[in-house]
Amino acid sequence: MKILELFGDRVKKGELLKNHTTYRIGGPADLYLEVKNVAEAAKAVKGAKEDGLPVFVLGGGSNILVADAGVRGLVIVYGGREVKVEGNRLIADAGAITFLAVKMSTEAGLTGLEWAAGIPGTVGGAIRGNAGAYGGEMKDRIDTVQAVNLETGDSATFNRPSCLFGYRDSVFKHAPWFIVRAAFALAPGDRDELVAKTVDLVAKRRAKLPLEYGSAGSVFKSFFFNDLSELSEGLRKSLPSKYAESNRIPAGFFMELAGLKGKCLGGAMISEQHGNFFVNSGSATAAEVRELIDYAKMKVKEDFNVSLEEEIQYVGFEKV
Ligand SMILES: Cc1cc2nc3c(=O)[nH]c(=O)nc-3n(C[C@H](O)[C@H](O)[C@H](O)COP(=O)(O)OP(=O)(O)OC[C@H]3O[C@@H](n4cnc5c(N)ncnc54)[C@H](O)[C@@H]3O)c2cc1C
Repeated sequence: MKILELFGDRVKKGELLKNHTTYRIGGPADLYLEVKNVAEAAKAVKGAKEDGLPVFVLGGGSNILVADAGVRGLVIVYGGREVKVEGNRLIADAGAITFLAVKMSTEAGLTGLEWAAGIPGTVGGAIRGNAGAYGGEMKDRIDTVQAVNLETGDSATFNRPSCLFGYRDSVFKHAPWFIVRAAFALAPGDRDELVAKTVDLVAKRRAKLPLEYGSAGSVFKSFFFNDLSELSEGLRKSLPSKYAESNRIPAGFFMELAGLKGKCLGGAMISEQHGNFFVNSGSATAAEVRELIDYAKMKVKEDFNVSLEEEIQYVGFEKV
């Protein structure tokens, strides 16, 4: 195989993906490779192409549910993890832990990324899904994104408009790109205030989220509507004014209203603390988590005529 010729025993066979996901769930990858830089990323992509292998790009594994049977083909991780500050810009490798990017920016007295303190995973994964919290989103400060095309191995640079960012969405979700680096345009701020803000946000998240369990964060995206008349009468009557006014209903609210909080299926459980967190209470399989998600989706559709859409990605499942 070309990929083995190129990378030798750096290509691991049967690497268990549960060791690389925050759910602590997931079977083996046929082949698993960590590339160190852009040139290696391009080489690996071309090698996989020659071998006819499907490629899955793995970041911090904090927004995915990986099937118990694992993933066929090549799972590739960007091992570049450098973050540096240049003037008001922050340059981060895709493999850098998002929190490191936040820490480096605040400690340099640069504002714009504090909201992301406490979001697990990597910069690459956060850009692809346009991660967001506390009113901030990745898109707000992105200047450029460098990515390798997973079909050709060619490299390209995207400016912010060409990233086509939307709510938990970007061009990288719809075309085969392997993000390798990004530059953020930040602004000067007060270092001490910025650091204090991140400490405060992390504490808030600790109090609010069931972090003692494995999870992939919020399973479903929020539900948006244009007009209250689109909602069923029952839903309208129970809707707190803050959701009615913002035209946005967090998915956890539906779990609460449907009486689904605390529901278990095998080792999978809908958190009592946060209804949009479907957690691994210790020994859940991917099949159990998936079944619980499917059940909740069906119940919400039945009870409120609302179709929830997953924020997490299913990996290695026949049905996605
Ligand atoms: C406790 C907890 C709290 C969370 N809170 C939030 C929150 O507040 N807001 C929020 O938005 N999210 C949240 N998440 C979800 C998750 O942490 C983010 O979406 C995160 O940015 C995903 O990054 P990752 O590196 O882990 O991606 P992964 O889970 O590894 O991958 C996610 C997707 O991105 C793709 N991907 C990863 N790296 C690359 C790359 N370099 N190039 C191209 N594609 C890539 C993968 O193929 C996959 O499709 C939370 C998760 C947990 C577990």
